[in-house]
Amino acid sequence: MTTNTELFSRAQSLMPGGVNSPVRAFGSVGGTPAFMVKADGPLLWDAAGKEYVDLVCSWGPMLLGHQHPAVIKAVHEAVDAGLSFGTSTPKESELAGYITSRVPTVEKVRMVSTGTEATMTAIRLARGYTGRNLIVKFAGCYHGHSDGLLAAAGSGVATLALPGSAGVTEAQASETLVLPYNDAAALEEAFNTHGDKIAAVITESAPCNMGVVEPAEGFNATIRRLTTEHGALMILDEVLTGFRLSEAGYFGLVQDENWAPDIFTFGKVIGGGMPAAALAGRAEVMDFLAPLGPVYQAGTLSGNPVAMAAGAATLANATAEVYEHINSRSAQLQEQIAQALNAAGVNHSIQSVGSLFSVAFGTAENGVRNYADAQNQEVFRYNAFFHSMLEQGVYLPPSVFEAWFVSSSHDDAAMDRIYAALPAAAQAAAA
Ligand code: PLP
Repeated sequence: MTTNTELFSRAQSLMPGGVNSPVRAFGSVGGTPAFMVKADGPLLWDAAGKEYVDLVCSWGPMLLGHQHPAVIKAVHEAVDAGLSFGTSTPKESELAGYITSRVPTVEKVRMVSTGTEATMTAIRLARGYTGRNLIVKFAGCYHGHSDGLLAAAGSGVATLALPGSAGVTEAQASETLVLPYNDAAALEEAFNTHGDKIAAVITESAPCNMGVVEPAEGFNATIRRLTTEHGALMILDEVLTGFRLSEAGYFGLVQDENWAPDIFTFGKVIGGGMPAAALAGRAEVMDFLAPLGPVYQAGTLSGNPVAMAAGAATLANATAEVYEHINSRSAQLQEQIAQALNAAGVNHSIQSVGSLFSVAFGTAENGVRNYADAQNQEVFRYNAFFHSMLEQGVYLPPSVFEAWFVSSSHDDAAMDRIYAALPAAAQAAAA
């Protein structure tokens, strides 16, 4: 069995929708998902033997590209020493040390296995610390799939055009206030009305799950000011941006603005392709977690030695040169995309924050500033663009609401293949 159609058909008979994460089913862009069997550097191969230049990078973790020699070596060494001990291991402190030394204000780290666990635990910690219930989130921001955070979430929820999710109770949803992104007045009003009940505001450092949206100037600082004034915590979700946008993640880009969240969440890059994520922050807040504090959290595979080895090797090799390379490749790519779409007369905006970007269609005038703008675009144009690129051997995110990811392994040859595919894809988007 080698065709993607055959593999998808078998998968659909065995797993809901044939997938273990909804966006992989190509529901938004249509067609048959490619079943990948191998990856190396900037390349992917599907089961039928077709080769693709990868601009998804496993949705972010593969900062250094696939099969980076130092990461693979570290993983092999870890595997040879045993897969899981269910005890503390030295590698946990090594990875935690990289995180605390790179991100100013972070003093302590709790390792978990997924970004969903990290944000879910951050919320529980904020409630335990403040003794309050309400959480504020922004429409279009995705923080994983825990119940209270699914209201008006981006990512797969945006792709499927679901208002939230069945199975989330009214009681859970009623403890999450959802506000429009980039709307400081709405946030101020929410604090004026509910200020003494709000435990935390959670925000993506820069939203990347309704496509990429730049935080308006001062928006994150306003969140910090209002949370401080009202005794609430600020949770900065850097699961996607952490250690991707700079050596200290998104926070590294804005350190001179003089604000810091109480809790960060990380994932993706810190696992280097293995399941690892974390919440982190000031010791005084983090020490509210068990066993020191009253907020319970645990995990059979938390701090797994193989995942810690992959993450530590990834961060050890995520040097300033890596970020320079990714920034310059990403900037060139954005330029080439704009040229191709302009030449084909396609109304679009390139949405970017540092090296992370996405392309929105039919939005040139003001770009996308919030979830309403994101949903108001000509999604069908991306679908045509996506399939043309796929056909030509470039693997883009299978939804217009996701960010594109470049790695340090994207060399000239890989970039040239992407550039060569753009004119035809732009024509397809114009039709
Ligand atoms: N937070 C953000 C900003 C994300 O982008 C994601 C996943 O894409 C998550 C949380 C959830 O992470 P995970 O898929 O590892 O549960």
